[in-house]
Amino acid sequence: MEMAGPSYEVVVGLEVHVELKTHSKMFCGCANSFGAEPNTNTCPVCLGMPGSLPVLNQEAVRLAVSAALAFNCTIRQRSRFDRKQYFYPDLPKAYQISQYDAPFAEWGSVAIRSGATRRTVRIRRIHMEEDAGKLNHLGQNLQSSAGSLVDLNRAGVPLIEIVSEPDMSSADEARAYLNELRTVLSYVGVSDLRMEEGSMRCDANVSLKPAGFTGSLEDLPRVEIKNVNSLRNVGRAIEYEVERQSRRLAAGEAILKETRGFNDASGRTYSQRSKEEANDYRYFPEPDLPPLVLSEEWIADVRAGLPTLPDAWRTRLGAMGVADQDIETLVREPSQLAFLTRCLDYADDVRLVTTWMLSDMLRLLNAAGLTFAESPVGPERLAELLHLIEDGTLSGRMGKELLEKMFASGESTKTLVDKLGMAQITDDRVLSEKVAAVIADHAKVVEDYRSGKVKALGFLVGQVMKRTRGQASPEVVNRLFREMLDE
Ligand code: ADP
Ligand code: MG
Ligand code: ZN
Repeated sequence: MEMAGPSYEVVVGLEVHVELKTHSKMFCGCANSFGAEPNTNTCPVCLGMPGSLPVLNQEAVRLAVSAALAFNCTIRQRSRFDRKQYFYPDLPKAYQISQYDAPFAEWGSVAIRSGATRRTVRIRRIHMEEDAGKLNHLGQNLQSSAGSLVDLNRAGVPLIEIVSEPDMSSADEARAYLNELRTVLSYVGVSDLRMEEGSMRCDANVSLKPAGFTGSLEDLPRVEIKNVNSLRNVGRAIEYEVERQSRRLAAGEAILKETRGFNDASGRTYSQRSKEEANDYRYFPEPDLPPLVLSEEWIADVRAGLPTLPDAWRTRLGAMGVADQDIETLVREPSQLAFLTRCLDYADDVRLVTTWMLSDMLRLLNAAGLTFAESPVGPERLAELLHLIEDGTLSGRMGKELLEKMFASGESTKTLVDKLGMAQITDDRVLSEKVAAVIADHAKVVEDYRSGKVKALGFLVGQVMKRTRGQASPEVVNRLFREMLDE
């Protein structure tokens, strides 16, 4: 556990905004797409024109509910939209349609591992809301710039906000939580999850709890660090904030309840404003939208459409005998699991497959900037290659060489083996001759071996490998030497 001085414990709770990958926006028919010319994806509804009316996008609700079910949340069958009111130039209506006291999902959980620690972080609530537009300041920031341009393409893009309980106790646990959140969401396929493009954004709440404190964590003075733009920076911001608050407490100064920003260059958080309270927003029920009513059957249907999630994969892979650390690597990327599953249609040794996938294949793919889904050597080809190793046609080393060649040329396993004359020599008769010749040429080494220097055998085997340009089967050569020399 990360400690802030001798007598405080770190408390972290995260609010994560995730943009949903729908075709159209949340309450109008405008396209939901990143990178279009400013203000081209707009209409009277998302521009906040008087008299326009919102209509809820069903696809957004389905994605939101899928995500919430993936985190084991309870879905509220009757929820409501509310207006959250504030003024800012990126918000043309001067209110955001959100959900306040009746969010569509509550009480989920995320299991995290950070080093040897395993713990469950509870999800307090998930609500739906619309995104605001984007301001492009002409200078460094609003204060110093000559002006600011408003792009409303993002206004009205559907979001879910996932609010955790303050269950994390270090920057590392916050990173682990975000990683797992991202992994689960990537399986469900509800979002692009690009922190740099803003499709996943995180606010980090940080406080220090005095030893022996028994009150409600809500009562501790906490700092909310807004809109940190990368996973790495969330960790940095929390670390800095813990240090800053510890210093203040050590100096006898109080922690102010406030909203802070994070400066990437300096690695520091800075004060933005004192923390707003819910009643600053004058929430009230959105009069232009009916309550959101979800039937039990509809929810069951969404649940049935969920893919196998990371935890279920962990269990399945464990039962298949995959090593623990390989399981963690595999579940991070769904395309690896798809590749493994297809490979196992043709191969039986799951450990052999995962070992080759996560060492040689992964190295080649990384170097080429490709994912498993784009691999020039498909699952069936890899299985073929592994069969050739299992049946002794190829040595492990030859297999690696062949994989590289297949990767570069896209040619089939058999074609390449023939073309390169790569097949391993396993014929006893052919190899006995070579072994006998090496024994005749290296009487001194043979002597050493016979007098107990076991290592000398390696040298002798090496000579045969050299004379066959690596094609001799090391197993057969080893056996033949033993047969000839061990009497
Ligand atoms: P707000 O609107 O003030 O951001 P929310 O209810 O949306 O309030 O979110 C509160 C967040 O603060 C939650 O993620 C919660 O886990 C976190 N939190 C509450 N108490 C603490 C605390 N003592 N230290 C750190 N985080 C906290
Ligand atoms: Mg907040
Ligand atoms: Zn629109």
